[in-house]
Amino acid sequence: MTPEAMPNAFRPGAATLSDTEARLVERRQSLLGPAYRLFYERPLHVVRGEGVWLFDAEGEAYLDAYNNVASVGHCHPHVAGAVARQAATLATHTRYLHDGVLDLAERLLATMPPAIGHVMFTCTGSEANDLALRIAFQATAGTGVIVTVNAYHGVTQAVAAMSPSLGAGVPLGAHVRTVPAPDPATGGDIGFASAVAEAAEDLARHGIRPAALIVDTIFSSDGVFTDPPGFLVAAAAAIRAAGGLFIADEVQPGFGRTGEAMWGFERHGVVPDMVSMGKPMGNGYPVAALALRPDLAEAFGSQARYFNTFGGNAVAAAAALAVLEVIEAEALQGHALEVGRHFRDGLRRLGSRFPRLGEVRGAGLFIGLDVLDPESRTPDAAGASRIVNGLREARVLISATGPRAHVLKIRPPLVFSDAHADLFLSRLESVLATLG
Ligand code: PMP
Repeated sequence: MTPEAMPNAFRPGAATLSDTEARLVERRQSLLGPAYRLFYERPLHVVRGEGVWLFDAEGEAYLDAYNNVASVGHCHPHVAGAVARQAATLATHTRYLHDGVLDLAERLLATMPPAIGHVMFTCTGSEANDLALRIAFQATAGTGVIVTVNAYHGVTQAVAAMSPSLGAGVPLGAHVRTVPAPDPATGGDIGFASAVAEAAEDLARHGIRPAALIVDTIFSSDGVFTDPPGFLVAAAAAIRAAGGLFIADEVQPGFGRTGEAMWGFERHGVVPDMVSMGKPMGNGYPVAALALRPDLAEAFGSQARYFNTFGGNAVAAAAALAVLEVIEAEALQGHALEVGRHFRDGLRRLGSRFPRLGEVRGAGLFIGLDVLDPESRTPDAAGASRIVNGLREARVLISATGPRAHVLKIRPPLVFSDAHADLFLSRLESVLATLG
């Protein structure tokens, strides 16, 4: 996919902008340069957030069904308060003794399988994946990496080289092999594990020792593939049989979003060697981490020292701890499970009336919905774009994903309720009715 083909990217001229919007677009362009992308034909100028709502400069409310960073709700007072208090008290790094990062580590590790015994802090998901690669390369003496065909794992040189969704302009490493996404329609669990085994063999045939299989455990950029739970067990076994490690990228599904478990790997019943996490971890404050097997941390730590200036700083730790507290206090995981079911049922009901809608996939509050050409019933990126932009005009925010850009990506803050889902469904119905 070329960068221009990023699903739901703003294209100048696609819609008429207000004077303020046009001025902001131009200012952005001249200051930030050409690599950035905006969402929507008519970009959204947001000034405030609260719960599941974003507000534009005119004070209009938008139902946010997309942003998983503000996972416990935009500007949640418990998190904002914890950040403000810590920022006003002490903002230092992990080279001093401090309870905050330890309280956080303890609480995070309590959510992990017993085999995962340490956690190392970073600022972004990219950095966590980059660190995971360094550790995997060292532990296996290999460099071969297996990813899914439209994976995204981040922005550093090393992880961009294993992020095929960035398109042909960002070359994959010679040590990287791709496997098809685990689409049950094309072989499901057995198919995925054997694709991993074949990719590992191919690496070995080229003299490259396999180091890791890394997957986003909800396959977000591949189009959202969640079922049947359990298919990752065979895939992890396949990479281990080839001498590599299994890295679960939890940046998207982690922190209770799938409803069924705290982590995406957990709902598959698989135990990873390393787990990267980020996005929702600080509800907007940049904090991310890599949790891992103690023996891997020891092997790495005996060769290299690790310090990340901002990773795990006192304010980041306060933010992440507050997020975990909110998830527990507001029982958001169970909430995501129930609302997600209600939401998907409603989407399926709409689908039975509108032939543009295809399969509804997902777990908890992470939903993928195929958009099809109503006649040929084949993937319809243009239709998906019309729905995404139609919803934006109806003040509901989602985006599109997948290699063919035809999957609606619905991923609201976890405080989304049944009533919000119903509001979403009625606005989607109106948009579908206008499309015919
Ligand atoms: N992994 C996955 C699966 C992601 O979706 C992302 C971000 N979209 C990243 C890693 C990178 O995280 P960050 O942007 O925090 O570097």
